[in-house]
Amino acid sequence: MVRSPTSQFRIMSQSLNNTIKELQKDMYYGNEVLNRVSFLREDTEFISKSLFHPSTRFIFFNKQNPLVHKNFPNMLSIMTNGDNQVCVDQIEPGQSNNLGYTGNLQFLPHGLLNHVSQWKDILHTWNEDNKNMDKGLRSEGKPTFLFMGLLDESVGLDINSLKVDCELNGDEKYLDHQGRYQGIAYYAVDLSGNKDLCRNIVHFVNDTLNAKLETDKTPEENGVFFTHSRKHFLTFESKEASLFSQGAMFFHWLSTNKFCPGCGHPTIPIHAGGKLYCTNEETVASNSDRHASTEKPDARSVCPVKSAPVSNVSFPRTDMAVISIITNTDRSKILLSLGKRHFSSKMYSCTAGFMEPSETVEIATKREIWEETGVTCDEVNVVMTQPWPFPSNLMIGCVGVVEFNGTNELIHLGHDNELLDARWFDTSFVRKLIYPESVTEADKDFNPEGIMVPMGQSIAYNLIKMCVDYEDEKNKEEYKL
Ligand SMILES: [Zn+2]
Repeated sequence: MVRSPTSQFRIMSQSLNNTIKELQKDMYYGNEVLNRVSFLREDTEFISKSLFHPSTRFIFFNKQNPLVHKNFPNMLSIMTNGDNQVCVDQIEPGQSNNLGYTGNLQFLPHGLLNHVSQWKDILHTWNEDNKNMDKGLRSEGKPTFLFMGLLDESVGLDINSLKVDCELNGDEKYLDHQGRYQGIAYYAVDLSGNKDLCRNIVHFVNDTLNAKLETDKTPEENGVFFTHSRKHFLTFESKEASLFSQGAMFFHWLSTNKFCPGCGHPTIPIHAGGKLYCTNEETVASNSDRHASTEKPDARSVCPVKSAPVSNVSFPRTDMAVISIITNTDRSKILLSLGKRHFSSKMYSCTAGFMEPSETVEIATKREIWEETGVTCDEVNVVMTQPWPFPSNLMIGCVGVVEFNGTNELIHLGHDNELLDARWFDTSFVRKLIYPESVTEADKDFNPEGIMVPMGQSIAYNLIKMCVDYEDEKNKEEYKL
C-alpha cells in the first residue's frame, strides 16, 4: 500500500502527539494532585471552615524541607486535624491515590488537634490574622500557612465513597462548602519560625510510630525529620513529589520576599499564603486622599508597588528556564552536552538556560543553543513543561531542529564557555542509553566512555526519550511504506 506524504505526516504527527501526551501525563513535580481553587484563597469563610475541618491535611515544612520518616522514604508525613480520618488508599484498593496515607505506619490514627497542645491555638490565631490581614501575620514564632487546594472529584477522588464512610462512622470525612465545593482540603505549613512547634510535631509523629511499633525510640532512631536531601526530593512518589514541590516553591517565594521591593516596608502573606501584601498603609491613605487634599503627596512615601495599577511583585514568582533537545530534520542525530559540574559523572544532557526579559520562548531557546553549542537552530517547538523546585523554576521543554548544511550543525563551545563537551550522537546510540534493557549481548560494549543520560524524573530525560521514540516510530512507518 502506498501512502501519500500527507497521510504519512498525519500518522507521524499523531504518533508524536501520543508520545508527548504519555510523557506529559506523569510529569514529576507537575502532577495535578489538587484542585487549587485559587479563587477560594480570599474567601475567609471557606478558609476558616477548611482550616478546622477534621479531614483537612497538613504538610509540614521547615523552610523548604518537608517532614518525612524513614519507614517511608518516598512519602511525606501528612497529618489531619481529626481522629481516624479516611485513608484515601483504602477507598480504592489498588489505585495509586497515595496521598499521605499508605501502609500501616504511614497512617496516623490520631489527629493533631487532640494531641499537639498548641495546635488549636495556632489555628485560631492564624485564622484571625488571615481574616483581618493582620500586620502580625509574620510575627516571630508564627507559622506560615498556605492553602494548597482541594482533593476533589476533578482530580480523581470518589466523593461517594467518602459519603458512605461518613454514614457508617458518623464522622465528617470531607469538607462541603455551600454544596458547591466538596473534598479534602490540603494546607502546607512552614514551621521554620517556631522551633518548639517543629520539635513537638516531630515528637508527635515519633510517639505515634513508637505506639504502633511498641518501641521507645528517639526521633533520630526512628528517622523522623525535616529532610533537605535531594535523595528524598527525587525519590518521592509522583503525587507526593508534586505536593512537596508546590509547598517548597511557595515557601521559597514567601521567605525570600519579606520586604516590599518598592518601598522597603514589611510584607505579609494574605489570602491564605497566595499573595504578598505591602504593610505601608500611610502611603495608600495619602495616595487615595490626593484628590481631596490640596497638598501634594510626598513622593518618597508612595509605594510604587502597591500604587501600581497592575503589579506582579505581590504574586508568587516562577523563574522560567528553557531546555531543549537538539536534533536534525530526520531525527537520526541528537546533540547532547556535558556541563562542567557533570564532568565526573559523564552525564550528557539537553541545553538549558534562563529566559531573559522580553524574549519569546522560541528566541530564548535559539539563543541558548547558539551561545552554549555554537549550533544554529531554525525551528523550535515547545512540547512539555516541568516545575522544578530548586528553588523555583519552570522548565520549558522544546525541540530544536537543526537543518544540516555544513555550517548550522558545527559545534563551537567558545562563546560562553559553559560546557566541557557537546556532540552529535547517533539516535541509535542514545536509544541504548534510554532503553538499556534492549542492548544485546553482542552490543554490550557499545558505550566504552560510560556516557550517561539524566535521571528519569527530569524533563531533560523525557525530551531525550521523546526524540528517541519519535525516530523509532518514524522508522517503523517508513518500513511499512
Ligand atoms: Zn510597598
